[in-house]
Amino acid sequence: MSGRAGWLRVGAAVVAGELRHDQAVRIQDGRIAEIAAGGAAPADARHAPNATLIPGFVDAHCHLSFGYAEDHATVRRIAEDADLAGLRDQIRRHAGECLAGGVTAIRDCGDRDFATLAVRDEIRRGELAGPVMLAAGPPVTTPGGHLNWCGGAVGPEDDIQAAVDRLGDAGTDLVKVLASGGGMTAESDPHHPQFSRERLELLVRRARERGLPVAAHAHSTDAIALSVAAGVSTVEHCSWKGIDGSADVRLDVVDSIARQGIAVVLTMAGIHRVMLPGRGTDADQVRSALESSATGRLADDFAWARTLRERGCELVIASDAGVRFTPFIGFIDSVRCGIEALRITAVEAIGMATAAPARALGLADVVGELAEGRQADAVLLDGLLTPESSELPDIVAVWAKGLQVV
Ligand SMILES: [Zn+2]
Repeated sequence: MSGRAGWLRVGAAVVAGELRHDQAVRIQDGRIAEIAAGGAAPADARHAPNATLIPGFVDAHCHLSFGYAEDHATVRRIAEDADLAGLRDQIRRHAGECLAGGVTAIRDCGDRDFATLAVRDEIRRGELAGPVMLAAGPPVTTPGGHLNWCGGAVGPEDDIQAAVDRLGDAGTDLVKVLASGGGMTAESDPHHPQFSRERLELLVRRARERGLPVAAHAHSTDAIALSVAAGVSTVEHCSWKGIDGSADVRLDVVDSIARQGIAVVLTMAGIHRVMLPGRGTDADQVRSALESSATGRLADDFAWARTLRERGCELVIASDAGVRFTPFIGFIDSVRCGIEALRITAVEAIGMATAAPARALGLADVVGELAEGRQADAVLLDGLLTPESSELPDIVAVWAKGLQVV
């Protein structure tokens, strides 16, 4: 499987959510043409008997226009001060870093001044190698609200439907709304909603009319409840913070999320990656992580996520790459955080970082599974997974549209 055609035989592969031993995959014209038992591969096919093939990762939440510096203020200053040409260069570089980290499809959840759209279109036209990309453009927020400096602020007297039209007219693939404040914007408040239910309903209705899904960023429990009542497509972060910042999971809202089939996008960013066992070697990063952590342990911080899973919610593991110390190439560490936080197996976590986001993003016909007809996006892991594995081996190779990029 070098170039765009050929066979690859592997010791194991995750197919249809299950681990299968000794598999052969045939690639043709950038797509998966066939998956069969290993013996189907010709004798001269590339053979990796001690490696596991999985689908390319789908990162449902990242910010290509952000530069993952060490702290929020620096990330913001760089993104705010860059000229548009410089921002686009950075986005192109980050798109390449995604591929290098095994991420072959992404949803950009908010940029500055639509900078991502031109790069998305270069990739779609085949002028630039990069992941399949959906882009939100500037997130809808309030004046002085979270990410207000991205260019998407809507005043209380302004028509919020016109704000949706502005995004749709510019060609975004979705609407991102900041239903609560966020940690990255010091003047915003993560523990309170930014919009009323009426405003969110108007936004969702107009987005639906234009065929655009709505992703709602919500840390505050009230903002989660308002977003779910308004019928958004995905809830981002979903960290269930009460107004005093303590954990406040509302089971009636959880059940409504499950009933409506709203996907919950868990962002496992740098502050979580450094909490992986053996990873916290940078003292400043560890301090930032512990300041943001309620308990100091991933599995305890994310107890609410296990409750959501038990009650039937669709969970997606994403990265929030671009925010402080969260490089795009480190996506696999976000998946490892998911294993730790949710107490799940590696195979289950891979599903939440491939098939589940593909479904949530409406990309399931194209990416997210090793299946005949899908785009030939795949990641080769340096080891044989078992159904019980809770460790994720490192990446040894990546294919995007059938072309080996790592
Ligand atoms: Zn984000």
